[in-house]
Amino acid sequence: MKSFDVIIVGAGPAGGHCARQLAGAGISVLLVEQHQTFEANNFSSAVTPMETLAQFELSESVVGSFWNQLVIVSTQVRKQWESSTALGAVLNFAKLREFLAGEVTRNGGEVWLGHRYLSHSSQDGETVVMLKPQGKEPIALRTRVLVDATGSARSLLSPHRQKRPDFFSGTGIEYLIKVDDSTYQSCAESLIFFLGHHWMPQGYSWIFPMERNILKVGAARYYGQHQILKDNYPAIKQSIELLIKDYLQIDDYHRLETHGSTLHYSRGLQDIYYRDNLIAIGDAVSSVNCLGGEGIRHGMASGQIASEYIQEYLADRTRDFAAYQHHLHQHFKRSWDISERIARKVYLEYSDRRIDQGLAYLGNLEVSEVIELLFSYRFENMTKGVGRILLSKLTEFWQKIGQRLGLSSTIG
Ligand SMILES: Cc1cc2nc3c(=O)[nH]c(=O)nc-3n(C[C@H](O)[C@H](O)[C@H](O)COP(=O)(O)OP(=O)(O)OC[C@H]3O[C@@H](n4cnc5c(N)ncnc54)[C@H](O)[C@@H]3O)c2cc1C
Repeated sequence: MKSFDVIIVGAGPAGGHCARQLAGAGISVLLVEQHQTFEANNFSSAVTPMETLAQFELSESVVGSFWNQLVIVSTQVRKQWESSTALGAVLNFAKLREFLAGEVTRNGGEVWLGHRYLSHSSQDGETVVMLKPQGKEPIALRTRVLVDATGSARSLLSPHRQKRPDFFSGTGIEYLIKVDDSTYQSCAESLIFFLGHHWMPQGYSWIFPMERNILKVGAARYYGQHQILKDNYPAIKQSIELLIKDYLQIDDYHRLETHGSTLHYSRGLQDIYYRDNLIAIGDAVSSVNCLGGEGIRHGMASGQIASEYIQEYLADRTRDFAAYQHHLHQHFKRSWDISERIARKVYLEYSDRRIDQGLAYLGNLEVSEVIELLFSYRFENMTKGVGRILLSKLTEFWQKIGQRLGLSSTIG
């Protein structure tokens, strides 16, 4: 029976990056993926801030386009921020995972596509893993550490739905559309997000530039009962078509692909992180941020942290992964708890007017502040927006008083 130090199930960003780190450290590692190709489940919009490229040493070949403009549109308000330099990238999700897998083999590891995880069991102090290659009989492999990187499926550590923690879940669907030059130019280099009940009740929608003449147009809806809205929403695909018809105002486009997935985020980060020599990373332990559904760099970060603890375990310097769970909680918990509270308010509680108002406040932030808020989770920046509106109203008030009293000097 073939044997590895580590078997990682799931070649998403988390599994791919973890395998790449371990192979780079000389550990014998196998990365397993159920799909035959990386195009097969190309579900993610894959927007990321600029720092991701350097932090995870990603090749520019995984970049679809760069963005230097951010636009947020609600039912009544539109705000736009611009920078003279690139603020981030829209990655090609298939190429990103292919690149990470390529790094694994380059570093001496193995990658098996088209192999589905079936089960595992303990035998003589080692774990035996059963895999099903497509169209062939199941095979057995031995490993010292097994990693659940199966994303929201959590197929290894939490396969039983009834035993899972309480989830905050949402489904996202995205069209990849080919458009003419002028439509593409109107969206090139911009991330455009749509909030509010007109565009996407109980969620948000978006238009991102993928590559020349190709746009990603999508919408995501969270599960749960909205405090104000009734349940008779349009289907998610209708919200995508609304963007194409009302915002882009085009009839003439070619739909290249439709993809999507459902994310299950554990409220309060209550996932199971490890059991014996089995450890989970990425969306399998809710590393995705539920406010904006951003999970690629966080999944890779969890894979990187896990790779350090796996090496400690293999070297017999630790007997379990309790310190790994503690490390991930320190890394994510505070910001993720606040994000969850805000997400529930914006998507499941607020009136449309309140969302318009919130966006008007954000409009007072500088571009660097809004990027810090959305991508570094600096929530204190939200109060700066409110503060600036109050200050300008106060200034206006004192100016009027000054004018009535016939004073020429202004305050502010
Ligand atoms: C519509 C949508 C848009 C998104 N947009 C963005 C975005 O713009 N930016 C961003 O950062 N994040 C985005 N995300 C989130 C991001 O894609 C995820 O958080 C990220 O992919 C999680 O990485 P992961 O490796 O943990 O899991 P995944 O990417 O889900 O990878 C898990 C892998 O495990 C494989 N697998 C599952 N079960 C088995 C099995 N039994 N055997 C073998 N293999 C198995 C799956 O096929 C899959 O390839 C988006 C998500 C959705 C749904």
